[in-house]
Amino acid sequence: MNSKILNSIQKIATTFVDNQFDTSLETVSIDSRSLQNGSQTLFFALVGSHTNAHVYVNDLIKNGVRNFVVNHIPEGCEKKANFYLVADTLIALQEFAAQYRALFDFPIIGVTGSNGKTIVKEWLNFLLSPDYNVIRSPKSYNSQVGVPLSVIAINEQHNLGIFEAGISTNSEMSRLEKIIQPTIGLLTNVGSAHDEGFLNLEEKRKEKMLLFKNSEVVIYQIKQNDVSVILSKQNAFTWSFEKNQASVFIEKIKSNDKTELKVYYGNVYFDLLIPFQEEASIENAISCLMVLLYFKYDPITIQNRMQLLYPVEMRLKVKNGINNCNIIDDSYSSDFQSLKIALDFLESQKQSDNKTVILSDIFQSGLYKEELYSKVADLIVSNNITRVIGIGETISEFKDKFANCITYKNSADFIADYDNLDFNNETILIKGARSFEFEAIVSLLEEKTHETVLEINLNAISYNLNFFKAKLQPNVKIMVMVKAFGYGNGGFEIAKLLEHHKVDYLGVAFADEGIALKSMGIQMPIMVLNPENTSFSAIIQHQLEPEIYSFKGLRAFLKMAAQKELKEFPIHIKIDTGMHRLGFEANTIDELITTLKGNATVKVKSILSHLATSDDFSQKDFTQSQIDLFEKLSSKLMSELKIKPIRHILNTSGISNFSNSQYDMVRLGIGIYGVSNDPEEQKKLENVGTLKSIISQIRIVSEGESVGYGRKYRAQKSTKIATIPIGYADGISRAWGNEVGFVTIKNKKATIVGSICMDMLMVDCTDIDCKEGDSVIIFGQNPSVNFMAQQLNTIPYEILTSISQRVKRIFYRE
Ligand SMILES: *Cc1c(COP(=O)(O)O)cnc(C)c1O
Repeated sequence: MNSKILNSIQKIATTFVDNQFDTSLETVSIDSRSLQNGSQTLFFALVGSHTNAHVYVNDLIKNGVRNFVVNHIPEGCEKKANFYLVADTLIALQEFAAQYRALFDFPIIGVTGSNGKTIVKEWLNFLLSPDYNVIRSPKSYNSQVGVPLSVIAINEQHNLGIFEAGISTNSEMSRLEKIIQPTIGLLTNVGSAHDEGFLNLEEKRKEKMLLFKNSEVVIYQIKQNDVSVILSKQNAFTWSFEKNQASVFIEKIKSNDKTELKVYYGNVYFDLLIPFQEEASIENAISCLMVLLYFKYDPITIQNRMQLLYPVEMRLKVKNGINNCNIIDDSYSSDFQSLKIALDFLESQKQSDNKTVILSDIFQSGLYKEELYSKVADLIVSNNITRVIGIGETISEFKDKFANCITYKNSADFIADYDNLDFNNETILIKGARSFEFEAIVSLLEEKTHETVLEINLNAISYNLNFFKAKLQPNVKIMVMVKAFGYGNGGFEIAKLLEHHKVDYLGVAFADEGIALKSMGIQMPIMVLNPENTSFSAIIQHQLEPEIYSFKGLRAFLKMAAQKELKEFPIHIKIDTGMHRLGFEANTIDELITTLKGNATVKVKSILSHLATSDDFSQKDFTQSQIDLFEKLSSKLMSELKIKPIRHILNTSGISNFSNSQYDMVRLGIGIYGVSNDPEEQKKLENVGTLKSIISQIRIVSEGESVGYGRKYRAQKSTKIATIPIGYADGISRAWGNEVGFVTIKNKKATIVGSICMDMLMVDCTDIDCKEGDSVIIFGQNPSVNFMAQQLNTIPYEILTSISQRVKRIFYRE
């Protein structure tokens, strides 16, 4: 048992409501959906702008959780568990973590800065782990919630900590300082990222430095004309690319794919090679070098270890696998904390109840092997994993701890045996340390398609969803429209994520979209906007909920409902208030009432209408007239039929522009995909989709020569042309060719030259240092879908939904 958890919570809780349940605690959780919650979990019920975990306490009690930190005891839960009462559960989590951290006394490196925090943390872990038992933040857990959760994973065997701290507004850093209590401060690059919350760079830097106010030393770069904010009592250990500015002077010489660093430190001089060329990677590597120097490593060890630095992949990717499997690729790390995160993610993304975990040996848990693999086995059991494939010497040794488990000594043995293994209709988590080179396993199991992919950032969807949630009054429900394959972004994966976020409803256009989602396991209610009469039977069979918009549809549905002897089958009544697309018109409401009255086969679950100009403020009178008519007609239906349905009329731009008419639910569409018609709002949303490809070939075209069909482009001078394997058959409009549009290569614009072909397009990359195989961005951050739509005289909806299904979708989480 981890008695430190109990000690720490006792120090901060104001009141303990002891109902005599066991208080032996092993772990802490804030996620009500995690299958890892159990009798030894201390659950903090956090309250967000539109979420409140107190509503899940009852369910958690049913699942065996017995100890909660709450701001009040939820109704019906009295006496069923122990409760620690606090004023604010987030502050309690932070204070608890600070108490917990203070129980340990070993060096802790705190890392902050605008860019590079996670990479520097991962690299330091790599460089220092041969000599220390390192505890570090998992993934990019650096927020007000992520930092406390990271710190709570410290145990007695650790002897060095590396934690990152990220802040978006003023005043957050002091709270993180109290939790991390870093003894060594490391400031990485302070660029312009996340600038919004700060007045200026100076303020941002000051705020960041607060993390280090009690550190014994702060490590950072000094640039020319730099007014550094050093807190006076602190020791600084600085570096610079300029002579005589800092404790360490560094010269860099780029050669081939590498960079040579010449390091001058006091009267010591040595040089080393790092396998990178970009500025950011060089600076991040130097941050690590500084820590090694501070720890008094000798030049030879520094050289040996730093030449092995590698690109860091922190994302959990979801990919389509062979034989209808889906794969969660986390093949770059294998510590205990990140295994827990990956298992929660597996649960949220599983497409099948068959779950396989391919797992390497686990490093740096700080636990003894026996205890570690017992804990891993417990995790595997609580997450209902069907089968475990262990790869590595150590996990093989502890094979008996797992129920359905086969093991291999190394990846090569697994690959040799691959043809004898069966992978079919299952969700596979591939999780291993870098040294096991699980990439090879991923590529065996991955479905093969061409190089063009649409990458979907699931975190961004969650972020955007919360952005709109925050605009809603309490208790207003959310329907998210996932029609047209989630606006082109992917139907199932997004539906699964939304289910995870407990949105109330999904909306699809046609019955078959809904059937597909239901048969893949989506359980939340789904409304079908445009059900054809021929699909009613399937709708009933799959428990979809039809939107009824005409008498023809209504009578057909009622007839079938009577035949099948349905009782109160949920339907949704659409009324036409001015869009003139689908819906009952005002003058037919009486007939509608007569038809529905007394019919118990169906239940009017909701009444809705759709706005035609919610995005256009110049027509706000028209929108208001639609809302007024909706109010009148829906009220009449409600009073005459004596029903209390959910009413809803707002789409995304309606939520932003007509916030007073939220009724009981809103229908959110394009907004969660990161697109707004309002430029100010657009800035606050996160980009969701990035359409990527690669360079197939590069050639030099001489002055006067032409490129492509019809010779539409003539080179004015010798020009470097790259061919990209994406064309109009993938959904890129031909109007985007012939120097109208561009793609981004290495953060630079490359204009599309000549006409776009069916499967390819050509760009001018004369001024870009690029080679065949390099990555190309078709849209994403830049050009944005909004920008493309403006240039092409269309709307972002069309661009997103045009991307062909042959383009593979890859879903990832930061
Ligand atoms: C598509 C759709 C929405 C969502 O619209 P957005 O502008 O994408 O938010 C809402 N309601 C209905 C009826 C729709 O068809």
